[in-house]
Amino acid sequence: MKKDWFDPVEKRDGGFICFYCRKSLSLTHFVYDHLNDNRRDNRIENVVFSCYRCNVLKIDDIDMQLNAQEKLGMNDISNSMGEKISSKPRELKELDISKENYEIAEEYVTKEVDLHGSVIVTEVKNCISYLCRQANGTGSPQAVTNYLNTLTCKVAPFEISKNKEGKKIIRRKQA
Ligand SMILES: [Zn+2]
Repeated sequence: MKKDWFDPVEKRDGGFICFYCRKSLSLTHFVYDHLNDNRRDNRIENVVFSCYRCNVLKIDDIDMQLNAQEKLGMNDISNSMGEKISSKPRELKELDISKENYEIAEEYVTKEVDLHGSVIVTEVKNCISYLCRQANGTGSPQAVTNYLNTLTCKVAPFEISKNKEGKKIIRRKQA
């Protein structure tokens, strides 16, 4: 059974990578993660690759659980549309949307930080998720987290810090 999952999941999800953190996996170090956490629901739509770490983190992480739910819904939809639609245009469309969502995130963070000096991470996450869903119907918390990680990486203009109350904030990198 599990053997039959590998090729279709790899093809559907664009590689042998962890669905949650997108890291490459090795054959000796991965698990099949059940999106709805029901280990007996062995439909292919319910299965993704995951690293050990994310598989465990997901138990307590509501963002990851929501992301999994959304993925299961998408798998169900694309499955019911069947093979009529080739995978290429859909991949392109997903790329366009994620590019657009990233730009929404960048614009929002830039505007808010320059206006207020800093923004609280949890608040900005919810706002970006909302704006992305408004713009094109998708904006999972996990995706938004990735955008914020990108915007605050070593070469980006922003950084994550903590305010007086100990809340995580995003601000411009201090000189
Ligand atoms: Zn992972």
